[in-house]
Amino acid sequence: MRTLLKIFLFCMIVLTGLLCVRPTGKLTQLEDVLQNNRLIVVTRNASSTYYEDPSGPTGLEFDLVKMFADRLNVELKFIVASDLEQIFTTLAQGKAHFAAAGLTQTQDRAKLLRFTPPYQHVVQQLIYRQGSPRPKNIADLNGGKLVVVAGSSHIERLHELRRKYPELTWEESLKFSNDDLLQKVESRQIAYTVVDSNELLLSRRFYPHVRVAFELSEKQPVGWAFSVKTDDTLYRQAVNFFIDIYNSGVLEQILERYYGHIGEFDYVATTAFKLHIQQRLPNYRELFEIAAETHGFDWRLLAAMAYQESHWNPRAISPTGVRGIMMLTRITAKQMGIKKRTDPAQSIQGGSRYLRFLKDRLPDEIAEPDRNWLALAAYNIGYGHLMDARNITRQTGGNPNLWMDVKKKLPRLRDEKWYQKTRYGFARGDEAVRYVENIRSYYQILLREFDSSTEIAARE
Ligand code: GLU
Repeated sequence: MRTLLKIFLFCMIVLTGLLCVRPTGKLTQLEDVLQNNRLIVVTRNASSTYYEDPSGPTGLEFDLVKMFADRLNVELKFIVASDLEQIFTTLAQGKAHFAAAGLTQTQDRAKLLRFTPPYQHVVQQLIYRQGSPRPKNIADLNGGKLVVVAGSSHIERLHELRRKYPELTWEESLKFSNDDLLQKVESRQIAYTVVDSNELLLSRRFYPHVRVAFELSEKQPVGWAFSVKTDDTLYRQAVNFFIDIYNSGVLEQILERYYGHIGEFDYVATTAFKLHIQQRLPNYRELFEIAAETHGFDWRLLAAMAYQESHWNPRAISPTGVRGIMMLTRITAKQMGIKKRTDPAQSIQGGSRYLRFLKDRLPDEIAEPDRNWLALAAYNIGYGHLMDARNITRQTGGNPNLWMDVKKKLPRLRDEKWYQKTRYGFARGDEAVRYVENIRSYYQILLREFDSSTEIAARE
Protein backbone atom coordinates (compact mmCIF):
# COMPACT_ATOMS: atom_id res chain seq x y z
CA MET A 1 0.00 0.00 0.00
CA ARG A 2 2.73 2.44 0.99
CA THR A 3 4.63 1.68 -2.21
CA LEU A 4 1.51 2.36 -4.21
CA LEU A 5 1.11 5.69 -2.49
CA LYS A 6 4.73 6.53 -3.17
CA ILE A 7 4.32 5.71 -6.84
CA PHE A 8 1.18 7.77 -6.98
CA LEU A 9 2.88 10.76 -5.35
CA PHE A 10 5.86 10.41 -7.63
CA CYS A 11 3.59 10.39 -10.67
CA MET A 12 1.78 13.46 -9.40
CA ILE A 13 5.03 15.37 -8.97
CA VAL A 14 6.28 14.43 -12.41
CA LEU A 15 2.94 15.31 -13.96
CA THR A 16 2.77 18.69 -12.22
CA GLY A 17 6.31 19.39 -13.35
CA LEU A 18 5.44 18.49 -16.92
CA LEU A 19 2.38 20.69 -16.91
CA CYS A 20 4.38 23.64 -15.68
CA VAL A 21 7.02 23.37 -18.33
CA ARG A 22 6.56 25.66 -21.29
CA PRO A 23 8.65 26.21 -24.38
CA THR A 24 11.94 27.75 -23.36
CA GLY A 25 13.08 31.05 -24.77
CA LYS A 26 9.66 32.61 -24.96
CA LEU A 27 8.60 34.95 -22.20
CA THR A 28 5.04 35.04 -20.96
CA GLN A 29 3.20 38.32 -21.46
CA LEU A 30 3.67 39.19 -17.81
CA GLU A 31 7.39 38.36 -17.88
CA ASP A 32 7.76 40.40 -21.02
CA VAL A 33 6.18 43.42 -19.35
CA LEU A 34 8.17 43.07 -16.14
CA GLN A 35 11.54 42.21 -17.64
CA ASN A 36 11.40 44.95 -20.26
CA ASN A 37 9.82 47.32 -17.77
CA ARG A 38 7.23 48.37 -20.32
CA LEU A 39 3.53 47.92 -20.82
CA ILE A 40 2.38 48.64 -24.37
CA VAL A 41 -1.29 49.43 -24.82
CA VAL A 42 -3.23 50.31 -27.94
CA THR A 43 -6.03 52.85 -27.65
CA ARG A 44 -7.97 55.32 -29.78
CA ASN A 45 -8.58 59.01 -29.46
CA ALA A 46 -12.06 59.73 -28.10
CA SER A 47 -13.60 61.60 -25.20
CA SER A 48 -14.64 58.26 -23.69
CA THR A 49 -11.15 56.75 -23.91
CA TYR A 50 -7.96 58.77 -24.39
CA TYR A 51 -7.28 62.40 -25.35
CA GLU A 52 -4.90 65.24 -24.64
CA ASP A 53 -5.79 68.12 -22.38
CA PRO A 54 -3.67 70.94 -20.90
CA SER A 55 -2.11 68.59 -18.38
CA GLY A 56 -1.19 65.95 -20.98
CA PRO A 57 -2.87 62.67 -21.91
CA THR A 58 -6.07 61.95 -20.05
CA GLY A 59 -9.36 60.05 -20.38
CA LEU A 60 -10.95 57.12 -18.64
CA GLU A 61 -8.85 54.47 -20.36
CA PHE A 62 -5.72 56.50 -19.79
CA ASP A 63 -6.41 56.70 -16.05
CA LEU A 64 -7.19 53.01 -15.76
CA VAL A 65 -4.13 51.87 -17.69
CA LYS A 66 -1.87 54.27 -15.83
CA MET A 67 -3.08 52.86 -12.56
CA PHE A 68 -2.50 49.32 -13.80
CA ALA A 69 1.04 50.15 -14.99
CA ASP A 70 1.80 51.78 -11.63
CA ARG A 71 0.58 48.67 -9.87
CA LEU A 72 2.96 46.55 -11.96
CA ASN A 73 5.56 49.23 -11.41
CA VAL A 74 6.47 49.48 -15.10
CA GLU A 75 6.71 52.21 -17.72
CA LEU A 76 3.79 52.75 -20.04
CA LYS A 77 3.60 53.27 -23.76
CA PHE A 78 0.43 54.05 -25.68
CA ILE A 79 -0.13 53.36 -29.34
CA VAL A 80 -2.94 55.61 -30.54
CA ALA A 81 -4.62 53.81 -33.43
CA SER A 82 -6.37 55.84 -36.07
CA ASP A 83 -9.34 53.49 -36.30
CA LEU A 84 -10.80 50.33 -34.82
CA GLU A 85 -9.39 48.05 -37.52
CA GLN A 86 -5.91 49.22 -36.65
CA ILE A 87 -6.50 48.31 -33.03
CA PHE A 88 -7.34 44.75 -34.00
CA THR A 89 -4.33 44.38 -36.29
CA THR A 90 -2.01 45.82 -33.66
CA LEU A 91 -3.26 43.17 -31.24
CA ALA A 92 -3.12 40.37 -33.80
CA GLN A 93 0.47 41.26 -34.67
CA GLY A 94 1.43 41.24 -30.99
CA LYS A 95 2.56 44.87 -31.11
CA ALA A 96 0.60 45.74 -27.98
CA HIS A 97 -0.08 43.76 -24.84
CA PHE A 98 -3.76 44.62 -24.92
CA ALA A 99 -6.29 47.19 -26.11
CA ALA A 100 -7.83 49.77 -23.78
CA ALA A 101 -10.02 51.49 -26.30
CA GLY A 102 -13.59 51.46 -25.09
CA LEU A 103 -14.18 48.15 -26.81
CA THR A 104 -17.50 46.41 -26.45
CA GLN A 105 -17.47 42.72 -25.70
CA THR A 106 -19.48 41.07 -28.46
CA GLN A 107 -20.05 37.52 -29.60
CA ASP A 108 -18.03 37.88 -32.79
CA ARG A 109 -15.11 39.44 -30.98
CA ALA A 110 -15.00 36.60 -28.44
CA LYS A 111 -13.45 34.43 -31.16
CA LEU A 112 -10.38 36.65 -31.32
CA LEU A 113 -10.34 38.55 -28.08
CA ARG A 114 -10.41 37.82 -24.38
CA PHE A 115 -12.12 40.55 -22.36
CA THR A 116 -11.51 41.65 -18.77
CA PRO A 117 -14.49 42.17 -16.48
CA PRO A 118 -16.28 45.29 -17.73
CA TYR A 119 -15.61 48.74 -16.32
CA GLN A 120 -18.76 50.12 -17.88
CA HIS A 121 -21.94 49.05 -19.70
CA VAL A 122 -23.28 50.80 -22.76
CA VAL A 123 -26.32 50.71 -24.98
CA GLN A 124 -26.17 51.34 -28.72
CA GLN A 125 -28.37 54.25 -29.75
CA LEU A 126 -29.66 55.28 -33.12
CA ILE A 127 -29.15 59.01 -33.57
CA TYR A 128 -31.15 61.44 -35.72
CA ARG A 129 -31.33 65.21 -35.90
CA GLN A 130 -33.94 67.24 -34.14
CA GLY A 131 -36.19 68.84 -36.73
CA SER A 132 -36.39 65.69 -38.86
CA PRO A 133 -39.05 63.09 -38.13
CA ARG A 134 -38.05 60.76 -35.35
CA PRO A 135 -37.85 57.12 -36.48
CA LYS A 136 -39.37 54.72 -33.98
CA ASN A 137 -37.66 51.59 -35.22
CA ILE A 138 -35.51 50.22 -38.03
CA ALA A 139 -38.46 49.98 -40.41
CA ASP A 140 -38.92 53.73 -40.01
CA LEU A 141 -35.54 54.79 -41.39
CA ASN A 142 -37.02 55.28 -44.83
CA GLY A 143 -33.79 55.06 -46.74
CA GLY A 144 -32.14 57.97 -44.87
CA LYS A 145 -28.36 57.73 -44.98
CA LEU A 146 -27.03 55.73 -42.02
CA VAL A 147 -23.26 55.81 -41.47
CA VAL A 148 -21.43 53.86 -38.77
CA VAL A 149 -17.80 53.37 -37.75
CA ALA A 150 -16.07 50.51 -39.61
CA GLY A 151 -15.14 47.54 -37.47
CA SER A 152 -17.41 48.64 -34.63
CA SER A 153 -19.76 46.69 -32.43
CA HIS A 154 -22.53 48.66 -34.13
CA ILE A 155 -21.93 46.86 -37.40
CA GLU A 156 -22.23 43.49 -35.73
CA ARG A 157 -25.57 44.59 -34.32
CA LEU A 158 -26.79 45.93 -37.67
CA HIS A 159 -25.96 42.60 -39.30
CA GLU A 160 -28.11 40.87 -36.70
CA LEU A 161 -30.95 43.28 -37.31
CA ARG A 162 -30.73 42.85 -41.06
CA ARG A 163 -31.91 39.28 -40.66
CA LYS A 164 -35.20 40.71 -39.50
CA TYR A 165 -35.17 43.82 -41.73
CA PRO A 166 -33.58 42.78 -45.04
CA GLU A 167 -34.04 46.31 -46.44
CA LEU A 168 -31.68 47.76 -43.80
CA THR A 169 -28.59 49.32 -45.40
CA TRP A 170 -25.73 51.39 -44.05
CA GLU A 171 -22.30 52.76 -44.90
CA GLU A 172 -19.18 51.85 -42.94
CA SER A 173 -16.65 54.58 -42.45
CA LEU A 174 -13.02 53.99 -41.64
CA LYS A 175 -12.15 57.64 -41.81
CA PHE A 176 -14.70 59.07 -39.37
CA SER A 177 -15.00 58.48 -35.65
CA ASN A 178 -18.23 58.37 -33.73
CA ASP A 179 -17.73 61.96 -32.78
CA ASP A 180 -17.29 62.99 -36.44
CA LEU A 181 -20.47 61.14 -37.32
CA LEU A 182 -22.42 62.95 -34.62
CA GLN A 183 -21.14 66.19 -36.07
CA LYS A 184 -22.36 65.09 -39.49
CA VAL A 185 -25.83 64.39 -38.14
CA GLU A 186 -25.81 67.78 -36.41
CA SER A 187 -24.90 69.54 -39.67
CA ARG A 188 -27.41 67.43 -41.64
CA GLN A 189 -24.75 65.81 -43.83
CA ILE A 190 -26.09 62.40 -42.92
CA ALA A 191 -29.46 61.35 -41.52
CA TYR A 192 -28.45 58.77 -38.92
CA THR A 193 -25.61 57.18 -37.05
CA VAL A 194 -25.22 54.72 -34.20
CA VAL A 195 -23.22 55.57 -31.10
CA ASP A 196 -22.72 54.06 -27.67
CA SER A 197 -24.58 55.73 -24.82
CA ASN A 198 -21.37 56.72 -23.01
CA GLU A 199 -19.97 58.50 -26.07
CA LEU A 200 -23.21 60.33 -26.61
CA LEU A 201 -23.25 61.52 -23.00
CA LEU A 202 -19.81 63.04 -23.41
CA SER A 203 -20.37 64.54 -26.84
CA ARG A 204 -23.95 65.75 -26.98
CA ARG A 205 -23.12 69.07 -25.37
CA PHE A 206 -21.17 69.86 -28.51
CA TYR A 207 -24.01 68.88 -30.81
CA PRO A 208 -27.15 70.35 -29.30
CA HIS A 209 -29.49 69.07 -32.02
CA VAL A 210 -28.64 65.39 -32.03
CA ARG A 211 -31.27 63.16 -30.45
CA VAL A 212 -31.71 59.49 -29.63
CA ALA A 213 -34.36 57.92 -31.85
CA PHE A 214 -34.33 54.50 -30.19
CA GLU A 215 -32.07 51.95 -28.59
CA LEU A 216 -30.52 49.42 -30.85
CA SER A 217 -29.11 46.95 -28.34
CA GLU A 218 -29.34 45.64 -24.82
CA LYS A 219 -26.71 46.72 -22.30
CA GLN A 220 -23.28 45.63 -23.48
CA PRO A 221 -20.09 45.29 -21.41
CA VAL A 222 -17.01 47.40 -22.20
CA GLY A 223 -13.54 46.33 -21.08
CA TRP A 224 -9.93 45.72 -22.06
CA ALA A 225 -9.27 43.20 -24.81
CA PHE A 226 -6.38 40.75 -25.09
CA SER A 227 -5.65 38.62 -28.12
CA VAL A 228 -6.66 35.00 -27.53
CA LYS A 229 -3.34 34.02 -29.05
CA THR A 230 -1.40 35.26 -26.03
CA ASP A 231 -1.03 33.43 -22.72
CA ASP A 232 -3.17 34.65 -19.87
CA THR A 233 -0.53 35.74 -17.34
CA LEU A 234 -1.01 39.47 -17.85
CA TYR A 235 -4.71 39.01 -18.46
CA ARG A 236 -5.13 37.48 -15.00
CA GLN A 237 -3.37 40.47 -13.45
CA ALA A 238 -5.78 42.74 -15.27
CA VAL A 239 -8.77 40.75 -14.05
CA ASN A 240 -7.56 41.09 -10.45
CA PHE A 241 -6.96 44.77 -11.01
CA PHE A 242 -10.55 45.31 -12.10
CA ILE A 243 -11.91 43.25 -9.22
CA ASP A 244 -9.86 45.35 -6.78
CA ILE A 245 -10.79 48.76 -8.16
CA TYR A 246 -14.42 47.72 -8.29
CA ASN A 247 -14.44 46.58 -4.66
CA SER A 248 -12.50 49.56 -3.35
CA GLY A 249 -14.75 52.13 -5.04
CA VAL A 250 -11.84 53.52 -7.08
CA LEU A 251 -13.55 52.62 -10.34
CA GLU A 252 -16.63 54.56 -9.31
CA GLN A 253 -14.43 57.56 -8.56
CA ILE A 254 -12.84 57.47 -11.99
CA LEU A 255 -16.21 57.14 -13.68
CA GLU A 256 -17.46 60.09 -11.64
CA ARG A 257 -14.51 62.16 -12.81
CA TYR A 258 -15.55 61.77 -16.44
CA TYR A 259 -19.30 61.42 -16.24
CA GLY A 260 -20.24 63.03 -12.92
CA HIS A 261 -20.99 66.55 -14.12
CA ILE A 262 -23.00 65.58 -17.13
CA GLY A 263 -26.45 64.99 -15.70
CA GLU A 264 -26.59 68.54 -14.38
CA PHE A 265 -26.25 70.19 -17.70
CA ASP A 266 -28.98 72.00 -19.53
CA TYR A 267 -28.76 71.55 -23.29
CA VAL A 268 -30.56 74.76 -24.09
CA ALA A 269 -27.88 76.61 -22.19
CA THR A 270 -25.22 75.02 -24.39
CA THR A 271 -26.47 76.77 -27.46
CA ALA A 272 -26.43 80.15 -25.73
CA PHE A 273 -22.97 79.42 -24.34
CA LYS A 274 -21.62 78.70 -27.80
CA LEU A 275 -22.99 81.97 -29.08
CA HIS A 276 -21.43 83.86 -26.21
CA ILE A 277 -18.08 82.22 -26.88
CA GLN A 278 -18.14 83.96 -30.22
CA GLN A 279 -19.74 87.23 -29.23
CA ARG A 280 -18.54 87.98 -25.72
CA LEU A 281 -15.48 85.93 -24.87
CA PRO A 282 -13.11 87.64 -27.36
CA ASN A 283 -13.49 90.88 -25.36
CA TYR A 284 -12.20 89.25 -22.19
CA ARG A 285 -10.00 86.40 -23.27
CA GLU A 286 -6.78 88.31 -22.80
CA LEU A 287 -7.82 89.39 -19.32
CA PHE A 288 -8.43 85.75 -18.39
CA GLU A 289 -5.06 84.80 -19.82
CA ILE A 290 -3.26 87.45 -17.81
CA ALA A 291 -5.05 86.50 -14.58
CA ALA A 292 -4.39 82.83 -15.27
CA GLU A 293 -0.71 83.46 -15.63
CA THR A 294 -0.54 85.58 -12.51
CA HIS A 295 -2.41 83.15 -10.30
CA GLY A 296 -1.44 79.81 -11.81
CA PHE A 297 -4.68 78.67 -13.45
CA ASP A 298 -5.81 77.54 -16.85
CA TRP A 299 -7.44 80.59 -18.43
CA ARG A 300 -10.29 78.44 -19.64
CA LEU A 301 -11.15 77.46 -16.08
CA LEU A 302 -11.33 81.13 -15.08
CA ALA A 303 -13.41 81.89 -18.16
CA ALA A 304 -15.77 79.01 -17.33
CA MET A 305 -16.15 80.33 -13.82
CA ALA A 306 -16.84 83.87 -15.01
CA TYR A 307 -19.45 82.53 -17.39
CA GLN A 308 -21.21 80.76 -14.55
CA GLU A 309 -21.04 83.96 -12.49
CA SER A 310 -22.18 86.55 -14.99
CA HIS A 311 -22.46 85.08 -18.50
CA TRP A 312 -19.48 87.34 -19.21
CA ASN A 313 -21.45 90.44 -18.51
CA PRO A 314 -19.31 93.00 -16.62
CA ARG A 315 -22.39 94.94 -15.54
CA ALA A 316 -24.07 91.93 -13.97
CA ILE A 317 -25.57 92.58 -10.58
CA SER A 318 -27.43 90.27 -8.23
CA PRO A 319 -30.18 91.06 -5.71
CA THR A 320 -27.71 90.32 -2.93
CA GLY A 321 -25.38 93.04 -4.12
CA VAL A 322 -22.62 90.99 -5.72
CA ARG A 323 -21.53 92.43 -9.01
CA GLY A 324 -19.19 92.39 -11.97
CA ILE A 325 -17.99 89.71 -14.34
CA MET A 326 -16.75 87.59 -11.38
CA MET A 327 -19.63 88.62 -9.09
CA LEU A 328 -17.54 89.68 -6.12
CA THR A 329 -19.10 90.80 -2.87
CA ARG A 330 -18.07 94.20 -1.60
CA ILE A 331 -16.10 92.58 1.23
CA THR A 332 -14.22 90.13 -0.97
CA ALA A 333 -13.43 92.89 -3.45
CA LYS A 334 -11.98 94.96 -0.65
CA GLN A 335 -9.92 92.06 0.69
CA MET A 336 -8.55 91.42 -2.79
CA GLY A 337 -7.68 95.07 -3.27
CA ILE A 338 -10.30 95.72 -5.95
CA LYS A 339 -11.60 99.25 -6.27
CA LYS A 340 -14.09 99.00 -9.08
CA ARG A 341 -15.99 95.73 -9.30
CA THR A 342 -17.61 96.55 -12.64
CA ASP A 343 -14.22 96.96 -14.30
CA PRO A 344 -13.69 93.57 -16.02
CA ALA A 345 -9.89 93.57 -15.64
CA GLN A 346 -10.12 94.29 -11.90
CA SER A 347 -12.96 91.87 -11.36
CA ILE A 348 -11.17 89.02 -13.14
CA GLN A 349 -7.96 89.68 -11.21
CA GLY A 350 -9.86 89.86 -7.93
CA GLY A 351 -11.86 86.69 -8.55
CA SER A 352 -8.79 84.75 -9.61
CA ARG A 353 -6.77 85.94 -6.66
CA TYR A 354 -9.57 84.89 -4.33
CA LEU A 355 -9.83 81.46 -5.96
CA ARG A 356 -6.07 81.03 -5.59
CA PHE A 357 -6.29 82.07 -1.94
CA LEU A 358 -9.02 79.48 -1.29
CA LYS A 359 -7.24 76.78 -3.21
CA ASP A 360 -4.03 77.29 -1.25
CA ARG A 361 -5.98 77.16 1.98
CA LEU A 362 -7.36 73.70 1.25
CA PRO A 363 -5.66 70.84 3.10
CA ASP A 364 -2.67 69.42 1.23
CA GLU A 365 -4.10 65.94 0.97
CA ILE A 366 -6.72 67.07 -1.55
CA ALA A 367 -5.35 66.22 -5.00
CA GLU A 368 -6.19 67.49 -8.49
CA PRO A 369 -8.65 67.67 -10.10
CA ASP A 370 -10.74 67.58 -6.89
CA ARG A 371 -8.72 70.52 -5.57
CA ASN A 372 -10.11 72.72 -8.31
CA TRP A 373 -13.70 71.61 -7.72
CA LEU A 374 -13.50 72.04 -3.94
CA ALA A 375 -11.90 75.48 -4.32
CA LEU A 376 -14.74 76.48 -6.63
CA ALA A 377 -17.30 75.19 -4.14
CA ALA A 378 -15.63 77.28 -1.44
CA TYR A 379 -15.74 80.31 -3.74
CA ASN A 380 -19.46 79.87 -4.08
CA ILE A 381 -20.55 78.85 -0.61
CA GLY A 382 -17.69 80.06 1.59
CA TYR A 383 -14.71 78.20 2.96
CA GLY A 384 -16.29 77.51 6.38
CA HIS A 385 -19.40 75.94 4.91
CA LEU A 386 -17.32 73.78 2.64
CA MET A 387 -15.39 72.54 5.66
CA ASP A 388 -18.72 71.75 7.35
CA ALA A 389 -19.74 69.71 4.32
CA ARG A 390 -16.40 67.91 4.40
CA ASN A 391 -16.98 67.07 8.07
CA ILE A 392 -20.41 65.66 7.30
CA THR A 393 -18.83 63.65 4.51
CA ARG A 394 -16.27 62.24 6.90
CA GLN A 395 -18.86 61.45 9.58
CA THR A 396 -21.04 59.58 7.13
CA GLY A 397 -18.25 57.39 5.83
CA GLY A 398 -17.30 59.35 2.70
CA ASN A 399 -13.94 60.76 1.66
CA PRO A 400 -13.80 64.52 2.38
CA ASN A 401 -11.02 64.96 -0.19
CA LEU A 402 -13.13 63.84 -3.10
CA TRP A 403 -15.57 66.10 -4.85
CA MET A 404 -17.65 63.07 -5.74
CA ASP A 405 -18.32 62.38 -2.04
CA VAL A 406 -18.55 65.97 -0.80
CA LYS A 407 -21.07 66.93 -3.47
CA LYS A 408 -23.47 64.32 -2.15
CA LYS A 409 -23.37 65.86 1.33
CA LEU A 410 -23.34 69.58 0.49
CA PRO A 411 -27.16 69.72 0.13
CA ARG A 412 -27.47 68.66 3.78
CA LEU A 413 -26.34 72.14 4.84
CA ARG A 414 -29.91 73.18 4.09
CA ASP A 415 -31.34 70.55 6.38
CA GLU A 416 -31.84 71.67 9.98
CA LYS A 417 -31.12 68.24 11.32
CA TRP A 418 -27.64 68.48 9.87
CA TYR A 419 -26.74 72.16 9.86
CA GLN A 420 -27.58 72.53 13.56
CA LYS A 421 -24.59 70.37 14.32
CA THR A 422 -22.19 72.26 12.06
CA ARG A 423 -19.92 75.11 12.96
CA TYR A 424 -21.14 77.60 10.34
CA GLY A 425 -24.79 76.56 10.06
CA PHE A 426 -27.27 76.86 7.22
CA ALA A 427 -26.03 77.20 3.62
CA ARG A 428 -27.39 76.57 0.13
CA GLY A 429 -25.25 73.53 -0.51
CA ASP A 430 -27.29 72.33 -3.46
CA GLU A 431 -26.54 75.59 -5.27
CA ALA A 432 -22.84 75.14 -4.70
CA VAL A 433 -23.07 71.70 -6.31
CA ARG A 434 -24.85 73.12 -9.34
CA TYR A 435 -22.33 75.94 -9.51
CA VAL A 436 -19.34 73.61 -9.65
CA GLU A 437 -20.95 71.11 -12.03
CA ASN A 438 -21.91 73.87 -14.47
CA ILE A 439 -18.37 75.23 -14.42
CA ARG A 440 -17.03 71.75 -15.11
CA SER A 441 -19.27 71.54 -18.14
CA TYR A 442 -18.36 75.00 -19.45
CA TYR A 443 -14.71 74.21 -18.87
CA GLN A 444 -14.99 71.01 -20.91
CA ILE A 445 -16.50 72.91 -23.79
CA LEU A 446 -13.84 75.62 -23.64
CA LEU A 447 -11.08 73.01 -23.55
CA ARG A 448 -12.45 71.65 -26.73
CA GLU A 449 -13.03 74.97 -28.44
CA PHE A 450 -9.55 76.23 -27.61
CA ASP A 451 -7.56 73.12 -27.70
CA SER A 452 -4.08 73.62 -29.02
CA SER A 453 -0.66 73.32 -27.55
CA THR A 454 -0.08 76.99 -28.26
CA GLU A 455 -2.75 77.93 -25.75
CA ILE A 456 -1.43 79.17 -22.43
CA ALA A 457 -1.82 76.23 -20.10
CA ALA A 458 -0.89 77.39 -16.65
CA ARG A 459 -2.93 74.77 -14.88
CA GLU A 460 -1.10 73.22 -11.98
N1 GLU B 1 -17.67 50.49 -28.30
C1 GLU B 1 -17.56 50.54 -29.71
C2 GLU B 1 -16.93 49.28 -30.22
O1 GLU B 1 -16.44 48.54 -29.43
C3 GLU B 1 -16.72 51.70 -30.15
C4 GLU B 1 -17.43 52.54 -31.06
C5 GLU B 1 -16.60 53.65 -31.67
O2 GLU B 1 -16.52 54.72 -31.08
O3 GLU B 1 -16.06 53.48 -32.72
O4 GLU B 1 -16.92 49.03 -31.36
